[in-house]
Amino acid sequence: MKPPKKIDGLDVVLFAENNDLVEYKDNIDLFVDNTRISESEYLAICKEVLGQKNILLVFCDKQLSIKGIIKLDSVEQGFDIAENSYKGISANWVENKIIVKSEEKSAYEINECSFCDKPSRDVERLYGSQRSLICNECIEYFSALLKTDSGG
Ligand SMILES: [Zn+2]
Repeated sequence: MKPPKKIDGLDVVLFAENNDLVEYKDNIDLFVDNTRISESEYLAICKEVLGQKNILLVFCDKQLSIKGIIKLDSVEQGFDIAENSYKGISANWVENKIIVKSEEKSAYEINECSFCDKPSRDVERLYGSQRSLICNECIEYFSALLKTDSGG
């Protein structure tokens, strides 16, 4: 499952699935309405947008409804708490691409042709500037097009 952008209004930074590779240890004493929360399907590390801008470890059921929340001092603390009760879940954390993407990347970091989107490993060469890149295949294509247009 892809990380959701939001869970109940909270921005999801990291998302992990409690799958077959995870061993549930039941080490989290988290009570909601006097009931200790049970094993959760999904864990998320979220940022509270309004108010205190807290980092939160969020436990969700299959429908992504929040079962319980632990306030964190750091993302690393969230990893530790999760791993302590969900052994092996550390390998399942997925960063939310939507948030990462919003930080602007230069063409060289993206490293793919701006015209056909092929990554550098799929083409012979990429030419360009900081802002955009073009691969050798697109140069050939566009130069052939240019010849056809001018030779008309
Ligand atoms: Zn290209």
